[in-house]
Amino acid sequence: MRLLATLLLCLALPAHAEGFLTRLLDKPVPGGVAVVPLGDGPVAPKARYQGKPVLVVKEDGKRWIAVVGIPLSIKPGSQTLEADGRQLSFTVGAKRYKEQHITLKNKEQVNPSPANLKRIERELAEQTSAYRLFSPGTPSNLLFDKPVNGPLSSRFGVRRFFNGEERNPHAGLDFAVPAGTPIKSPAAGKVILIGDYFFNGRTVFVDHGQGLISMFCHLSKVDVQLGQQLPRGGVVGRVGATGRATGPHMHWNVSLNDARVDPAIFIGAFEP
Ligand SMILES: [Zn+2]
Repeated sequence: MRLLATLLLCLALPAHAEGFLTRLLDKPVPGGVAVVPLGDGPVAPKARYQGKPVLVVKEDGKRWIAVVGIPLSIKPGSQTLEADGRQLSFTVGAKRYKEQHITLKNKEQVNPSPANLKRIERELAEQTSAYRLFSPGTPSNLLFDKPVNGPLSSRFGVRRFFNGEERNPHAGLDFAVPAGTPIKSPAAGKVILIGDYFFNGRTVFVDHGQGLISMFCHLSKVDVQLGQQLPRGGVVGRVGATGRATGPHMHWNVSLNDARVDPAIFIGAFEP
């Protein structure tokens, strides 16, 4: 009888305006994601943020939503999204990120030589152009599978000090897993870049569609080829400690409209 009463109560409640994806993904902070509703027109609106194309999907088969990546460098306040010529505003809140102090024996990884600085610059340009790709396909799933099963060891956005000197904040999420663990693609995608970089070590970029891009680094082994299409769960490579790493772990970046955002959002593990 009580169950029936509860069911009736649920049915009597008005339909919730927010859908499943909005509840999961809308974390509008620097390094987070803003979900902006775009109406229920017959065709997908075209949206841009800071001059870059933005992911647009249909939520619950009803309304269009823009899923906007917010760069870590954005100050809290009002932001503007352009959708089919209209200016839509959304608000970015504040978030405090923790600090992490790391000691590296290899001083070259803290203050690289001029030759290595040249190499780093070249490698950065290559990776930046991969993040700027915008392919038209809609991602197979926005609720991602975890690429590996294991505890989180370092969160996204942590301010990092190497041997006491501040460097770029942590642009991804680390999992503590043993070397050799297979890394699985969290959604279907295409391999758009493979590299062996000074900081990131052996690295694979996977394009999930519409500017949603995963990057896995410090790999011991790469199991894919450039241009390869991966199914959801397809093995990208193996966990390792190549590049600037203090030990084997899996580092995963997620990028949306060329903004590196917190991967924890996409696996339901976001901490405000
Ligand atoms: Zn990391």
